[in-house]
Amino acid sequence: MLPLSENIAAVPPSATMAMNNRSKDMVAKGIDVISLAVGEPDFATPSHITQAAIDALHRGETHYAPSRGIPALTKAIADKLNTENHIPTHQNRILCTSGAKDAIRITMMACLNPGDEVIILDPAWVSYDPCVTIARGKAVHHSLNENFQVDESLYEKITDKTKMIIVNTPSNPTGSILGRSSLRILADACIDHDLYCLSDEIYEKLVYGQEHVSMGSLPDMDERTITINGFSKAYAMTGWRLGYISAPENVIPYMDKVMQHSVGNVNTFAMWGGVAALTGDQTCVESMRKEFEIRKKYVIGRLAGMGLKTAPANGAFYAFINCGGDDGATANLWLDKAHVAATPGFAFGAPGWIRISYAASLERLEEALNRIEAVL
Ligand code: PLP
Repeated sequence: MLPLSENIAAVPPSATMAMNNRSKDMVAKGIDVISLAVGEPDFATPSHITQAAIDALHRGETHYAPSRGIPALTKAIADKLNTENHIPTHQNRILCTSGAKDAIRITMMACLNPGDEVIILDPAWVSYDPCVTIARGKAVHHSLNENFQVDESLYEKITDKTKMIIVNTPSNPTGSILGRSSLRILADACIDHDLYCLSDEIYEKLVYGQEHVSMGSLPDMDERTITINGFSKAYAMTGWRLGYISAPENVIPYMDKVMQHSVGNVNTFAMWGGVAALTGDQTCVESMRKEFEIRKKYVIGRLAGMGLKTAPANGAFYAFINCGGDDGATANLWLDKAHVAATPGFAFGAPGWIRISYAASLERLEEALNRIEAVL
């Protein structure tokens, strides 16, 4: 048989999914495993959003749509980015995608030539590096400092091959937020070296007592920032596979070509749900945020009580725990002995750390933490 793609052979399988699959196997055997390994809100999608998609189905919105998305949604996205995020974008600069993950894949396909370098700030979400590799770029990892912020050492990683820096705040896996000084250093690096910035803002709505600042709103950054966002986390719409990109005018046609020759267009009636999400009442977003905040306080408090150190937890729904040793062994111990699934930090370029998601009910979180405490 002819050899398969060397490029794809180099891509590791997803460690989050591996842990989740192991815990699902245990559940199938009748073991009561609490999975805190995946980043998925446990809330139902708000009913006015599901109703809008059902109405769209009944209206016959079951056909192909424009490759960039239905105009009602691209307009709602552009309006939201202008008013809430202060990004001076326009409907013509929006592309709807099958989730934020697809948005990242499309960005890499549209922007990279073989060997182009993309800087990833570790600890980083598991799919950035593979998305770069799949597009035949080269992922260059740079560690955030001990406060999970960016400092001037970032400049050491910039070469004449660097094309892009990926910024993710609030962060998966740390739950931390990059402060204004970090954002300024990142913006200066992009401007000084003529780089693109991919700003993944999927957790923007989940912030606790801190502000979210969009890279594209900083001076001179709009023309080089590709803002990525979606509906999965803010509106509990993970299964809808709905996300979007706002990109500079010259980049969008390239992205559109990738869309036209791959997915074609995002699920048409899901996009109508997206319109309802963005233009409807936002109380649902705030109630979910408040609930996550209550859980965060509980989880971080309990972990501190066990003597475990965590990264500053100001956003998203993750606690990033310093386990002070072999994170893979710790995750296996927690799964085998406590029946709690967590993700080892090596998956995020942060050995010695372990990530739990607090997107679970308070009762399950309490039970999980009791079990972890017993094992410790
Ligand atoms: N970006 C980050 C940082 C994430 O944590 C996730 C999902 O876990 C995504 C993007 C992808 O989100 P979506 O469900 O919209 O594809």
